[in-house]
This record gives sequence, structure tokens and C-alpha cells, in this order.
Amino acid sequence: MKKLILGGLMAFAVAACSPGADEDAGTVADAGEVNLYSSRHYDTDLALYDDFTAQTGIKVNLIEADADALIERIKSEGELSPADLLITVDAGRLWRAEEAGVLSPVESEVLAERIPIYLRHPEGLWFGLSTRARVIIYNKEAGKPEGLENYADLADPAFKGEICIRSSSNIYNISLLSSIIAHRGEEAAEEWARGVVANFARPPQGNDTAQIEAVAAGECRIAVVNTYYLARFAGGDEDQRALFDKIGVIFPDQDGNGTHINISGAGVVKTAPNRENAIRFLEYLTSESAQRYFADGNNEYPAVTGLKANSAVEKLGSFKADTLNAAEIGKNQRLAVEIFDRVGWN
Ligand code: FE
Repeated sequence: MKKLILGGLMAFAVAACSPGADEDAGTVADAGEVNLYSSRHYDTDLALYDDFTAQTGIKVNLIEADADALIERIKSEGELSPADLLITVDAGRLWRAEEAGVLSPVESEVLAERIPIYLRHPEGLWFGLSTRARVIIYNKEAGKPEGLENYADLADPAFKGEICIRSSSNIYNISLLSSIIAHRGEEAAEEWARGVVANFARPPQGNDTAQIEAVAAGECRIAVVNTYYLARFAGGDEDQRALFDKIGVIFPDQDGNGTHINISGAGVVKTAPNRENAIRFLEYLTSESAQRYFADGNNEYPAVTGLKANSAVEKLGSFKADTLNAAEIGKNQRLAVEIFDRVGWN
């Protein structure tokens, strides 16, 4: 077995299905292996890798680290990189991988058929496997803020001193602003960001969970968070559910472009030593059972059309999603960061 344990990174190998199988011709061990570099770190994903091995005989080796570290690692390993598939959790990061030149295009009928066109790269550099929506939440006790329907409304002076949101260095906010740039142009996007900053209840702090807690506690009336954080509360223990009950959810832009969504996705690495196995694994991830596991691991929406999210996620309500291609979101990342700097969104 190829050793993948590297300094600072956690490596985990899922054993092939037949314990006695070795290099003998005709045994499943001959199906080879696939090396995943993943920034997802959910225990449920491990069961999935095991199932893939049981079905195909292909052994799964896993390296887990932060997405940017994995991209750097693949770059520095160069031609000798063992990486076959890069799995990560934001269009912005997939775009960084694309920019770094570490991905290669894949043509697959299975992937083209199962994954909607807006959730995959136009040339097949990466494929969305699950999605999450960035929604507006409010404190129910304070009442539904009148006139708050769209992202644009967050910049309305009517909501002065009422909005909590995490920092602009966070990739979810960068991707949201990137989508606004794509829809409305740079000037309108900057004006929007300036308006939101003017409405801050406090300087940006904490992650999405902290924003949910602050809204539930009445510290802020309004916040912007990803759906999977909400679903964790909705499907959590009694205390978490009690907090969730204090929160109202607004899916923005239902009469317009639809609610901004982001993807968790994967791309085949340019230097992949096991390219065929990597494509096979990607295709496997679009099967119904795999989609279930993959999306449930983090309370996300399955990317494959027609499949439902889990009950905690469904509790948040149904909505129209923005079908802007994730590649467009990626392209505007740099400009979004500049705009955040210009308007003083820390
Ligand atoms: Fe997150």
C-alpha cells in the first residue's frame, strides 16, 4: 500500500473488501487504488469510501487537510503527486485549484447526465456533488423584518444596526458577493456591500454558528448563514432545537435570480496516477446511495436532480436556487475581496 501519511496531514486508508486478497491475478486487489485529497472531514464519508471499495475492489487512500493546503501540496508534489481527486467545499476553492492549474478536464456521460449544468465546470474541471444555500435569518420574537426579501434589502437603511455576519475573509461571503457582481455588476455590488456594512450590529466576528446563536439570543435581529449550520440546530439536541425555534428563515431573491447556493465538489488532478479510478469514484458519488451519504454528512442538498435533502434540511423550506454557474462565482472572487476592502467590511 502506498504510504500517504505526511507531516501535518491526517491520512487514512480504507481497507479493500476482501481481507485475504493480495496481488493475485483475478482478485479485487487488482482493481488498484484511488488517492483522495479531501477537505471534507465527516465520519459518514468514510462509510462511503468503504462501500466504493466493496463495490469495485478499488482501495481508497485518503488525505485530509484544509483545501488551500491541499492545493499547495499538489503543486509542490508536481509530477510525482499521488493525488487523484481533489474534494473541497466551495466554488471559490475549486476555482483556486483551477487557477493553480492542478485539475484536468473530465468527459463523462454519467456525470453530465446526473449533475445539472450549473453545478459543474463548463469544461469538466470539477463537478458539484452537493450544495448549500446562503440564507437570511431573523429573530422571530422581534418579528419578521418588513421588506426583507432579497439580498439587496440587507443594504436598506431601514435595517441599520441590525445585521450580524461573519468576516469578509470568509469564503462564503466572498462567493456571495461574487454572485452579486455577476448579476448586478461591480458598481452595484460595491454599493450593496457598503450599505450592509452601514447596517452592521457589531464588527464581523465568529462563524455561521455564532451568528445563529447571536440572533437566537436577540443580540442581532438579522444574520446571513449557510443552511447546513441551521440544519445542525434543527436536527440537534433539545437545546439546539430550542434555539432553532427562535429563528425565522428567509430564502432571498425568490422573485428574482433565486437564492445563492454554493457547492461541495471535486475535480480530477492533472497528474493523477489513477485517473480512471478517480473518474469512477466521481461517478460513484453521483449514485443515489452515495449522494445520500455525501449530502447527509454535512446536511447539504444532493447535487443530483430529483433527490431530496434530509428531514432537518427540508424543515428549512423549499426554494428556488440561483442557477448562476459556480465557475462565474469563482471568477469574481478577487474583485469581491477588493470590494470588501474598499467598503471596510473586515
Ligand atoms: Fe462551513
